Amino acid sequence: MRLSRYFLPVLKETPSEAQIVSHRYMLRAGMIKQASAGIYSWLPLGFKVLRKIEDIVHQEQARAGHIAIQMPTLQSADLWRESGRYDDYGQEMLRMQDRHGRDMLFTPTAEELVTDIFRSHVGSYKDLPLTLYQIQWKFRDEIRPRFGVMRGREFLMKDGYNFDLTKEDALHAYNRHLVSYLRTYERMGLQAIPMRADSGPIGGDDTHEFLVLAETGESEVFYDSQITDLKFGDREIDFDSHAQCQAVLEEFTSRYARTDETHDEALFNQIPEDRRRTARGIEVGQIFYFGTKYSEPMGATVQDSDGNKVPVHMGSHGIGVSRLLGAIIEASHDDKGIIWPEGVTPFHAGIVNLKQGDAEADAACEALYASLTALGLEPLYDDRNERAGGKFATMDLIGLPWRITVGPRGLKNGVVELTSRRTGESEELPPEQAIEKIAAIYSKVLPGA
Ligand code: ATP
Ligand code: MG
Repeated sequence: MRLSRYFLPVLKETPSEAQIVSHRYMLRAGMIKQASAGIYSWLPLGFKVLRKIEDIVHQEQARAGHIAIQMPTLQSADLWRESGRYDDYGQEMLRMQDRHGRDMLFTPTAEELVTDIFRSHVGSYKDLPLTLYQIQWKFRDEIRPRFGVMRGREFLMKDGYNFDLTKEDALHAYNRHLVSYLRTYERMGLQAIPMRADSGPIGGDDTHEFLVLAETGESEVFYDSQITDLKFGDREIDFDSHAQCQAVLEEFTSRYARTDETHDEALFNQIPEDRRRTARGIEVGQIFYFGTKYSEPMGATVQDSDGNKVPVHMGSHGIGVSRLLGAIIEASHDDKGIIWPEGVTPFHAGIVNLKQGDAEADAACEALYASLTALGLEPLYDDRNERAGGKFATMDLIGLPWRITVGPRGLKNGVVELTSRRTGESEELPPEQAIEKIAAIYSKVLPGA
């Protein structure tokens, strides 16, 4: 993309309504525009990152064997009356009537709808296990929408639902989701710690939340510092193996890590004092096992191998896709702007032309642009007639991990400058070598590369 043809409405002033850094940078970098309280339009740069996050979620869901569907945002209240949640959900649910006076609602989550799909089409244990998921907009009429996309009213969520014959199988689905989520967040450059949590209106016994540590997080968290040394990394795992998933779950949940809702001071105090940590965290996902809570009232049954009709065991599993943008920025920025992890960056590298209109500099930039594009990478070329300082400030603000700076002086010596956004370190090298280096970095990040 050439910046002169892009739509990147960068703000010079820091918007006064934004209280936390991710919100400020998302507004300043022209990623989002508030439409009304807690509801946002996604401008090109923000939308690009949102899609990158979605792509990672889809790829990791596929790896775990989960199947994508898409359910509507508007639902009839009837199904919610069957489960009993129409009355229980409270004011966070946005309710409306259609022209025939039928009660409708904007989906805050979709256990009822997916259970209805299941009961209409699945009748035998032979069709299990089954996990269906979607990435879809949700609406919750939050009493205090704030912090930009962190606590919106309309927000994008990945919600997945497992259907299993036995409790044991459903617990495997729970463990499998935990493992899959660890991989998902790490690919986004995040450490998200699974913490024992409270189940809230979804109901159920087993539940973990995934929290990203950040000063601006809304949850107070308590943990054993050893937990932050754990990395999932690039280990191979067989997602069908109960034993392998169970082992990973045990590894990542055996140390103390809880939110204030489930915090147990006496247990916490058993950890050696120098390892006890109290901090803040951003909830970026949650997994639940809730057994037959929905399948029983809604009649979602299958025939088992003896021909008996039994209600299926279920769980639901959510990732806060739009909230993740805020969480990533909270975890990765400096005083100049965002620092995107390579896995989610909107463009792979920026090209800054120090002397637009200089024939040699223009040609060198075009050649870099063509080489990166040919490698399947997306460069953002700042080809505007602007001062170098302004170009650098924009690149720093929008946070591309790598910048190639091209100017007549360097070109005389056959070099361009390659700069890491994270470390600020620069090196001069021939253009082909800059390309090779960037290609090598992304070959470790991009799927299939
Ligand atoms: P919270 O406790 O933050 O209100 P929740 O526990 O009600 O969230 P879940 O039902 O577990 O949320 O939804 C799954 C994920 O969706 C959450 O882990 C979170 O990342 C995201 N999410 C929930 N509410 C919002 C919101 N208002 N804005 C943005 N993301 C949200
Ligand atoms: Mg939650």
